[in-house]
Amino acid sequence: MQALEIIARKRDGSEHSEDEIRFLLNGYLAGTVADYQMAAWLMAVCTRGMTRSETLALTRALVESGEVLDLSDIEGVKVDKHSTGGVGDKVTLIAAPLAAACGVKVPKLSGRALAHTGGTLDKLESVPGLTVDLEPERFKRQVREIGLAVAAQSPRMVPADRALYALRDVTATVPSLPLIASSVMSKKLAAGADAIVLDVKAGRGAFMPDVPSAVELAREMVDLGESAGRRTVALVTAMDNPLGRTVGNALEVAEALEVLGGGGDAELRDVSVVVAGEMCRLAGIDADVERVLSAGGGRETFERMLTAQGGRLEAGLPEAAVRLEVKAEAGGWVEGIDALEVGLTNLALGAGRLRKEDRIDPGAGISIERGVGEEVRAGDVLAVIHAASSALAEAAAPRLRAAWRLAAAPVERPPHVLERVAT
Ligand code: URA
Repeated sequence: MQALEIIARKRDGSEHSEDEIRFLLNGYLAGTVADYQMAAWLMAVCTRGMTRSETLALTRALVESGEVLDLSDIEGVKVDKHSTGGVGDKVTLIAAPLAAACGVKVPKLSGRALAHTGGTLDKLESVPGLTVDLEPERFKRQVREIGLAVAAQSPRMVPADRALYALRDVTATVPSLPLIASSVMSKKLAAGADAIVLDVKAGRGAFMPDVPSAVELAREMVDLGESAGRRTVALVTAMDNPLGRTVGNALEVAEALEVLGGGGDAELRDVSVVVAGEMCRLAGIDADVERVLSAGGGRETFERMLTAQGGRLEAGLPEAAVRLEVKAEAGGWVEGIDALEVGLTNLALGAGRLRKEDRIDPGAGISIERGVGEEVRAGDVLAVIHAASSALAEAAAPRLRAAWRLAAAPVERPPHVLERVAT
């Protein structure tokens, strides 16, 4: 078997055998299949797609490329949560501690920024001193003691996804249903939780551009989870507009703390409560999530988790050297804020990676001053750019201003949770 033949077969629309998929993945990890060959195959998958049995085979091969976490020595139902990626999506930072404060055990392995979307690990690492690299014993101890740990998959877990994820990020090969489904579910299956809540984003700022394709992805992932014996529920949520009021790593941690403290954006708060509620339901816990949020239980759990992972919030979150206000040129009501454009602007500011080896600027990002449904007058501040230099901020401003779509009459915010997919 040759990598070249396998790439050509997918280019021509053939169905792979499980052996072909394993050959390619193992070869890539061993260094006998080159980056450029893997990138060509990934692009062929993006254009040709995969059958259900190919996706299942790819998921299995990804899981089997490394170790699987055994959580059986942690009491209770362990529930994991995963988002397919959005702009301003800090729901994990709110829903996971809330669920843990309600009594759910949450062992969460997260990812890094992918294309124009943010990554939970990059956000958490903006807290001074915090580590996301937890050895399995430390990870499990923290879940036992605090109810929550959010960490990177160890290099020994799903190494094939780790390698593919970094390659896809820089080769425009992220938006593919089988690649996303197998990437997400391989990590969830290897992480060992009993049940999984998936947040599948749909819209401009998501990898699935519309609700039907997001529902299809949700259905595929729910089936992959259930067929592996894990109770799996997916929520399809809107990602046409950025979620909440901030985009950027440290900015999003600060916003999550604000919501956990009882304030913040209503939509972000509501969706986080819904996700935490699903996590409780799967764990068989009948909790009043709203009450736990108001009583500060989620914030306390989050802060305990940050401290346990070495984080020092008291040292302050990193801040950008430059702040630039972006002002409206005309008045109206905000009808939409193009999440993709905001995500790409954020990436250009250094909050994500353009190349695999890039370092993230934790202080960079965007705060949204006028959200969807709000009235704007000419000269009002729409957003504030947080950047390392004036040149970066000035370059981002026109693109960001153009992301705001204004209407002449008042507009209502569209619903956020669009569908629930379960067996
Ligand atoms: N999240 C993942 O973990 N993988 C993807 O491919 C997309 C989102």
